Amino acid sequence: MRFSDFPGLSQSKKNLSDVVKSGKIAHAHLFSSGEGGAAFPMALAFATLLNCENPTEDDSCGECPSCKKIQSFTHPDIHFSFPVTTTNQYSKSENLKCEYFLKSWRELLTENPFPSYQSWAEKFILENKLSKSRSLNIVIREAREIINSQALSAFEGKYKIFLIWNSERLNPNAENALLKILEEPTKGTIFILITHKLDRHLKTLLSRVQIHSIAPFKPEEVVDILEKKFSIEPEIAKKAGLISGGSISEALHISGSPNRVDFEKIQEWFRSCFSLDLTNLFISAEEFSNSNENYQRGIFLVGMKALENSLVSEIKSDDFGWSERLNNFFLGFLKNVGAENFEAIRKEMEEGLYLLDRNIQPRLLFLQKSLKLNQLMKSNVKN
Ligand SMILES: [Zn+2]
Repeated sequence: MRFSDFPGLSQSKKNLSDVVKSGKIAHAHLFSSGEGGAAFPMALAFATLLNCENPTEDDSCGECPSCKKIQSFTHPDIHFSFPVTTTNQYSKSENLKCEYFLKSWRELLTENPFPSYQSWAEKFILENKLSKSRSLNIVIREAREIINSQALSAFEGKYKIFLIWNSERLNPNAENALLKILEEPTKGTIFILITHKLDRHLKTLLSRVQIHSIAPFKPEEVVDILEKKFSIEPEIAKKAGLISGGSISEALHISGSPNRVDFEKIQEWFRSCFSLDLTNLFISAEEFSNSNENYQRGIFLVGMKALENSLVSEIKSDDFGWSERLNNFFLGFLKNVGAENFEAIRKEMEEGLYLLDRNIQPRLLFLQKSLKLNQLMKSNVKN
């Protein structure tokens, strides 16, 4: 992965390449972005540059043996840690190492270098035939592996680099075990933690790492990645880019859905919520719950986007299916419901997304949310 392999974020890229050029490299870093954002590719590009044998002015070369090996995730000095859980084959958590699952991990990254926890957990659960409710973590045995192998010197690279992806999912024991080593690693060892939830870390850990907050991708950058890396049709990429909130994983979810959610669908749902049309609300809940997960997530994502669009006064483009007619509907809706309630409604939908990821029964969830939305939409009218 090179910095030039993904668009935008030029300031972050420059800062990191300046760090490498200066030779003054902290031994522990933490890259933070939203799920499916640029923290992982940025961290990987940084690791690639650190070990590149022939770097250019501001990026790795992409051609040297080190770059090639990192590109195929087979460099002996680049160690990946990521959340896992016990399986039928590896049933004892005290023996659980990421190494057992490297093949799947490489497949995931080859397919999508902007991974989200959800995309990894889905793959892991499916391949190991586990229940959907299982949650994955970075376990203590893996932390011990890291501690032991960081003590060895690098095989062939300039640095031995440990990439710990989804560090918010370090078990408390594992996080504690790593604290000391983050402060004083063996010379030539660099730790790179990648997180989507900075606040889930111990304060002590945060004080021992250099934090790099990576901004979300802009909509046009998401579109660019979807078109170039995933060969998604421009029309669909544009819609997904707008709704994704800068997350490539979300954009892929949205654009991969066979029957995509559009603003019209949200308009219909909101109308039923507003008028408490129970028949239609039951029909919608049934329809949503019979659709696939991408579609269900799309209902909340597109719903949130519709609210945001209505709050922005200058919506001109109908590239995203946001027509004049829709604009009038949502503006009228905004007038009736009130901007302050829009925020509460948006939060309800954000929570819906969260609960969907935790495998709550979708039919019940959509019904509950419909009733809650009705209350919020009407609270202004009564006053
Ligand atoms: Zn190179």
